[in-house]
Amino acid sequence: MLATPRPVFPFSAIVGQNEMKLALTISAVDSAVGGVLVFGDRGTGKSTAVRALAALLPPMKAVSGCRYGCDPEAADALCEECRARSLTGPLKAATVPVPVVDMPLGVTEDRVVGALDLERALSQGVKAFEPGLLARANRGFLYIDEVNLLEDHLVDLLIDVAASGENLVEREGLSVRHPSRFVLIGSGNPEEGELRPQLLDRFGLSVEVKTPEELGERVEVVKRRDEFERDRAAFIAKWKKEDDRLRRRIVAGRKTLPGMELPDDVLVAAARLCMQLGTDGLRAELTLIRAARSLASLEQAAAVAVTHLRRVAPSALRHRLRRDPLDESGSAARIERALAEVFGAAESA
Ligand SMILES: [Zn+2]
Repeated sequence: MLATPRPVFPFSAIVGQNEMKLALTISAVDSAVGGVLVFGDRGTGKSTAVRALAALLPPMKAVSGCRYGCDPEAADALCEECRARSLTGPLKAATVPVPVVDMPLGVTEDRVVGALDLERALSQGVKAFEPGLLARANRGFLYIDEVNLLEDHLVDLLIDVAASGENLVEREGLSVRHPSRFVLIGSGNPEEGELRPQLLDRFGLSVEVKTPEELGERVEVVKRRDEFERDRAAFIAKWKKEDDRLRRRIVAGRKTLPGMELPDDVLVAAARLCMQLGTDGLRAELTLIRAARSLASLEQAAAVAVTHLRRVAPSALRHRLRRDPLDESGSAARIERALAEVFGAAESA
């Protein structure tokens, strides 16, 4: 039995933080964008935003009793058990909320990937597998607070699994694999340790969040938070319309995405921008294109346009610049300059 989920703060009621909200929404439309890295001060609502977005998404159909929450309609992404079950008849499904799994610091690798019980395998000849966090995160979000404090090899592993959509556990000749498709969201405080550039580059988007400096905005943040704490149900009801509207846009965007036209001039523009900034490899360009396509789908545009590219460029590129990737003003200014040089200053608003 699932407990009634604790009501979460509505996504639409989050004040400001537009870049973060857009990056999360883009990744909800297309998880292939590759996750979001959120840099910023403590208490800027990073975790709230992820939870709010997951709560807003339509609940998913999952195979009843499956430990990995397999999608009964995705025949190519079923776990071994569901594949076996599907041979004997249609899979029974239940509706479940989109999972958000927290990655605690100091977590062991076994707890993340799952544990194979070698003793039982040897003594009883059964393959006993205790699923880990990667099983629970399947088809949802995996949230790492302070990703820069997590061991590099774990971050590496998470990114690998997120990219492949599959978790493979191998111990002493035994192996288990199961689907594990999720959007990786990492939050970090740049003052508390850096991420290796190789890891930074593997996150799709990155955004910076700040405590609002404008008086009116600060007041609004506190006001809404207070209103929410005093009467959660009433506050959620008040923002329901906005949240519903965004949900419909995301669902429509997901449908539009596969057929979204990607003209050559947009590809050329992306390449020129990345050359101008000297980003290494093709990952930057691919992410830039994917994010622009996701945004175009979200907005039901006829085709991806250079304007979409411009709007996602800071998030897609700022963590890939070679020097001072975390120096926000520096990298943002460099991207702005490159945008102006490639596309002309007039359009760069
Ligand atoms: Zn399954």
